[in-house]
This record gives sequence, C-alpha cells and structure tokens, in this order.
Amino acid sequence: LTDLKALADEYLKIAYHGLRAKNPNFNAQLVTDFQPEPAEVEVVPQDMGRVLLNLYNNAFYAVWQKQKTAGPDYKPTVWVRIGHCIAESTPTQNRVSIILDVRDNGAGIPESVEAKIFQPFFTTKPTGEGTGLGLSLSYDIITKGHGGTLSVESEEGEGSTFFITLPARSS
Ligand code: ADP
Ligand code: MG
Repeated sequence: LTDLKALADEYLKIAYHGLRAKNPNFNAQLVTDFQPEPAEVEVVPQDMGRVLLNLYNNAFYAVWQKQKTAGPDYKPTVWVRIGHCIAESTPTQNRVSIILDVRDNGAGIPESVEAKIFQPFFTTKPTGEGTGLGLSLSYDIITKGHGGTLSVESEEGEGSTFFITLPARSS
C-alpha cells in the first residue's frame, strides 16, 4: 500500500524544484488540500510517480507560459487535492475511490485540442519541450495498470484540471 498524500507531495516538490533549477525566474504558488483520512492506494509507486510528474510538469508549463504574457496581477498557481468519493454503490456495499486532482490557472485547453491530448505523440509544444507521450502514458498507467480513471476539465483562458480516480483499498 502506498500513501498517496506523501507521494503526491514529494513529487510536487521534485517537479517544482526541477523546473526552478533550470528557470530560476519561475515562481508558482503551490496549494495542497489533502483529506485528513489516510489515502492508501494499491499502486506501483514509480508508475504513479511518473503520472504525477507528467501532470505537474504540464501544469507548471501552462502557468509558466501564461505568466510570460499575463499582467503583474497574475499569480501562477498549481493546486493538488486529494479526497475520496463513492464510485459505485449497491444496497449492501459502497465502492470508494480516492480522487486526486491537479489544477492550474494556465491558459487552458481549446476544445479541438482537448479531444487529442491523450493520444500518443500529440503535443502543442515546440520541439525539445514536449514529446506528446506524457498523457497517453499516464492514461495507460492509471486505467490499465491500476483500474482507475484519468480525465480532464478545462476552460480556455482560465486553466485546466486533471482528475485521477483510483480504487480505494478494499477492506
Ligand atoms: P507534452 O507535455 O510532451 O506536450 P502531454 O501528453 O503531456 O505531452 O500533453 C499533451 C498536450 O496536452 C500538451 O502539448 C498540451 O497541448 C496539452 N496539455 C496537457 N496538460 C495541459 C495543461 N495543464 N494546460 C494546458 N494544456 C495542457
Ligand atoms: Mg507533458
């Protein structure tokens, strides 16, 4: 069993400090909102870490790009939230999921682009800055590897939220 809160926090710092090491001018506000209850999930930590890094790097990239054109009032921010939700219920049993979402207030994703982001090799980034593999790999890790879901909600100009759900530990 892996403590998702510890993993999510650790990789958030790794992603942020990695980016700042290369771009010392980059500053973002990191906000975490984790449920008080344990968030233990059956995951392969390295795989889950890779998914988190992909989502965090995308979020940081989005706010960093937006900062280049936004006014001085713009505060680049990445939010990470962990909670739980009832995924499915029957008269005798509730199936609980852990939900982790990563939100940014970057430029958001146009609808025409949103339809393609989980496809392998799809990228809108310049050569050298993106391979287009992050989200397709993350999608496979979460769905095929862990029986979870990965989805996105985005509003152009406002930002994006990526949602991961994972089956909670069955007790
Ligand atoms: P890459 O980051 O190498 O481009 P990904 O698979 O991680 O590949 O993402 C694919 C595309 O999805 C990105 O090029 C970008 O257009 C879009 N995207 C992903 N995350 C975000 C985000 N947080 N904000 C805006 N666009 C995003
Ligand atoms: Mg990426």
